[in-house]
Amino acid sequence: MRASATPAEVAHVVTLIEEAGAGVHVDAGGEFTVIGAIGDRAIVAGLPLEAVAGVEKVVPLRKEYKRVSREFRSRDTIVTVGGSPIGGGNFAMLAGPCSIESYEQTLASAQAVKAAGGVVLRGGAYKPRTSPYAFQGLGLEGLRILRAVGDEVGLPVTTELMDARDLEDVVEHVDMIWIGARNMQNFNLLSEVGRAPRPVMLKRGMSATVEELLMAAEYVAKEGNDDIILCERGIRTFERSTRFTLDVGAIPVLKAETHLPIIVDPSHAAGKRSLVMPLAMAAVAAGADGLIVETHPTPEHALSDAAQQIPSAEFGAFVADIERLLAVTGRTPSR
Ligand code: PEP
Ligand code: MN
Repeated sequence: MRASATPAEVAHVVTLIEEAGAGVHVDAGGEFTVIGAIGDRAIVAGLPLEAVAGVEKVVPLRKEYKRVSREFRSRDTIVTVGGSPIGGGNFAMLAGPCSIESYEQTLASAQAVKAAGGVVLRGGAYKPRTSPYAFQGLGLEGLRILRAVGDEVGLPVTTELMDARDLEDVVEHVDMIWIGARNMQNFNLLSEVGRAPRPVMLKRGMSATVEELLMAAEYVAKEGNDDIILCERGIRTFERSTRFTLDVGAIPVLKAETHLPIIVDPSHAAGKRSLVMPLAMAAVAAGADGLIVETHPTPEHALSDAAQQIPSAEFGAFVADIERLLAVTGRTPSR
């Protein structure tokens, strides 16, 4: 719409689109009001909108992903998790143990995260393990521990949802739901969290392209949930010296393609402690909106991902180093 368009003109265009049977999304926060129309291309494109009062121009969305694309919304989306803004220049540190193992272990990790300036506590209660004989997580008991610890130290919490049957329990206990790499294309699960009243962090599948990640996010957004954070966590390549290959190039590509915040998980890409910091630094330098890092009070005793978790006693120094680089890039940490 033209900058001078009146609310009545905006409303009229919305009505015309709705009458054509298309979905409408109005973004009025910027200099211009942008009205997104999603429906049958032949019908929507046939509407004579360019002749309607207040309309500046009609732009066909070229991409298959619509709601999550920059074409649809040019400004960065800021996702607020338990009061902490992520994206739009607010750099967020999310951290915590790989798995919730006990109250004491989760608390020790959380205290280090809080002291270091982290803004969200992570911890897995339902763990996607390669072996069915490996520790599978504490389930509901883990959710209760995570919530209690988050409240005790004053951090919002996030956990992985693997099964839609656990959605209610997860919504009840956490501030943000995360979908793990192995479920990035579990389309029914994506639609379910798209209807859930919580922000969603969507991790890139280890064999998924950037476009597939964006299409997965579109499944969530299509159901009405636009509070989505994307997470690059490494992809599978022929290289075996790291656990996965961190796709640093995906960060600026995603920043150009979508308005959603992009965070990076250097821990799972690295697979070993010594590699987490350089990958984290690369992510910050490439423009990530935040990091999600695994930290455990005694990694050698961890029930999952022992080799890659940062000892909680070292986590403050880890974050301090990251924030020095962040300052060089002209960004500020979210608090
Ligand atoms: C995790 O974050 O604990 C995890 C299992 O990550 P991913 O889904 O990226 O493998
Ligand atoms: Mn892990």
